[in-house]
Amino acid sequence: MNAINQVAIFGGSHGNELTGVFLVKKFQQQPNLITRQSFQTSALLGNIKAIAEGRRYIEKDLNRCFYGQNHQDDKIVTYEELRAKEIQEILFPHNQPGVDAIIDLHTTTANMGLSVILGNLHPFLLQLAAYLSSINPLVKVYYHPQPKYSGYLRSLCDLGIVIEVGAVAQNILDADLFLHTEQLIYAILDYFELYNQHKLSNHVSSFTLYKFLGTIDYPRNDSGDIQAMIHPQLKFRDFEPLQPGKPIFLTFDGKEIFYTGEDTVYPVFINEAAYYEKGIAMHISQKQLIKLD
Ligand SMILES: [Zn+2]
Repeated sequence: MNAINQVAIFGGSHGNELTGVFLVKKFQQQPNLITRQSFQTSALLGNIKAIAEGRRYIEKDLNRCFYGQNHQDDKIVTYEELRAKEIQEILFPHNQPGVDAIIDLHTTTANMGLSVILGNLHPFLLQLAAYLSSINPLVKVYYHPQPKYSGYLRSLCDLGIVIEVGAVAQNILDADLFLHTEQLIYAILDYFELYNQHKLSNHVSSFTLYKFLGTIDYPRNDSGDIQAMIHPQLKFRDFEPLQPGKPIFLTFDGKEIFYTGEDTVYPVFINEAAYYEKGIAMHISQKQLIKLD
């Protein structure tokens, strides 16, 4: 791969996830914090209207609106689709080189700690994930495959990375998570710098990756109303093993509902507030040891 020349850091792709919003504002006021010698870094706010209103989005989830430049203009009807087009034009101006890497900052109400989400397994991203896992054992790497231009901001370029931290409520700042996120951003920028200067050493040979397998919805009635809650024994157990037969939901009458899959899985995004409307109670993933050459 060639050198990394341009990097974009995004906060507030979801307007009620304050860690990213305030980190980006900090970087805009103190650009020296994200300045590295061998490449340019910009810090941008995503969903500006939603940030002002303290909501995830106004009409449509912005982080499902990035379909690349070929998306037809006549399909753009919502504020978020318009904002996605503007962002794509900033990141990839016509007849000019676009950004090489995107770092998209998110928070979750699930107990995902300090997570990095990859949308593809580009060898550079695997090396970066291994490096981040090695310098901070708290870092978890989650692989949620997203083809290019699949709607997610990170899908606009090969080196798209999400930092997802939690648990933190929507519209709340948590100082520990803020500091962890900030340090992780600097670690990624430093890695890019070392890469550009051909100074990467301490080769890491393996790391743990959690690979998306699917989603589980809440039990619902015919009208779509939720009929059960996340089971207390599963609550906050993101990235921990869930064995077949273990309880995952508790109905309002106290009846337990059990996991019926055949294999042990590793749930993430358990009880994410923003996913109730998406029909997702949790993602389930598979734990893998990735060996690098
Ligand atoms: Zn988010």
